Amino acid sequence: MREHFEHPASSSVNRRRRLGAIRISSLLLVVIGAGLSLVLALWLFSPSARKATTLGVAEIAGNVAEGYMADTRPVEVIQIADIVFQATGIANTQLIPTSEGYVVFDTGLSIQAAKQKRLLEESAGSGPITEIILSHSHQDHVGGVAFWLEDDSEIIAHAEFEEEQRYLKELEPYLWTRNRRLFPWMPEEPVSGGPLEFGKIEPTLRVDGEESLTFERGGIRFEVIPTPGAEGADNLCLWLPDQKILLSGDFFGPIFPQFPNIFTMRGEKTRKPIEYIRSLDRLIALEPEVLIPSHLSPAYGREEIKAAMTRMRDAVQFVHDATVEGMNSGRTVYELMEEIQLPPELELSQVHGKVSWGVKSIWEYYATWFHHDSTTELYPVPIRSIYGELAELAGPENLVARGRASLAQGNPVESLHFSEIVLESDPEFRSALELHRDALDELLARARAGHQNAFELGWLGSRLEEVRARLEPGGA
Ligand SMILES: [Zn+2]
Repeated sequence: MREHFEHPASSSVNRRRRLGAIRISSLLLVVIGAGLSLVLALWLFSPSARKATTLGVAEIAGNVAEGYMADTRPVEVIQIADIVFQATGIANTQLIPTSEGYVVFDTGLSIQAAKQKRLLEESAGSGPITEIILSHSHQDHVGGVAFWLEDDSEIIAHAEFEEEQRYLKELEPYLWTRNRRLFPWMPEEPVSGGPLEFGKIEPTLRVDGEESLTFERGGIRFEVIPTPGAEGADNLCLWLPDQKILLSGDFFGPIFPQFPNIFTMRGEKTRKPIEYIRSLDRLIALEPEVLIPSHLSPAYGREEIKAAMTRMRDAVQFVHDATVEGMNSGRTVYELMEEIQLPPELELSQVHGKVSWGVKSIWEYYATWFHHDSTTELYPVPIRSIYGELAELAGPENLVARGRASLAQGNPVESLHFSEIVLESDPEFRSALELHRDALDELLARARAGHQNAFELGWLGSRLEEVRARLEPGGA
């Protein structure tokens, strides 16, 4: 998924741009909708004419959509290690031409896919598409399958692909709303109907368990390796053994190296930390000389890649083992989130995955939802249900004053608790809103000065904007 974008909120210029983008997004949907209706109508004509026209219309719709999406990555083609052509974008599409057919690895986000395909064919020539290999089922990797697919193409995916696709589709409205909070440039609603709609991909060949799928095409050997546990249960990588090139999809996340998202706070099914470590061990043993992820840029150098992979592996193992040890010794999840930190030799960027969230993820992976902190966890009566009465008893001004003191003492999260008690029964209580805003501001400043985790910045920026809007005259 598009996990690498920083939230554009919080500077006033960006804020204006965002508000503009929100207003304009219904227009955008109309434009995309009109384009797609045309695509749908053309879908009924002859196969080749319909495909050419579909691609043209999809590219126009994509250009319009991109124009309204802040911070999109432009589509350009680069050639990597002679044999791999890559179309950049929000997610990259890779094309490997051979004398016996063309192999595609990942197909990008639907709105960029038609343009990626056209530019790749202009650079690499065109030929029969013999294999389309999908690193996993996320929207930004499967968006162009309908454009590339030919009658004889194989679609190669992991055996878990369809199950991952099923739940992502069934929960699309819920997940879309969550993602839009973090990535506000997304259109208000997912595309429904036509070739840009998510879902309905049926792999024709599947990899599973430990066994790789190998084939040779035009003298080039391909090895599709199942690597579950990273960006979902259905991850796979493509290995070109003779060139020592690894096409890694989202296995390493958007930047390399980094502390990975053991579970993503975007909200998806749990991932398995030990499965991830095993998959990573397998990739380390390959000793790749070029690493091509499906986001951002390739990495080069056998020793550098091996050292970076090993650090990621050891960092996840360290956080895993420390969490398990803490659980066994009776520490609470919150104590462990605070205490467990990477040692200096395993220090990694936390722009994508955050260690403290990794701790909580591993805890809940093993112990699930009941933390044994309070009997109330067993019943549908959250602590919020008594906030109104608490505010009445303590007096809202007293609570805000205590919250202010917490903020002054460097405890902005405590301040959020105080302000939330007041705001639960009176969402417009001005001094509580101001306290809430200032606490979020402090957390945002800390996040920027610290790990700059994109999800944390996105969440805080989005909350802050809501609170600021409520504080404006006539605010919501
Ligand atoms: Zn992705």
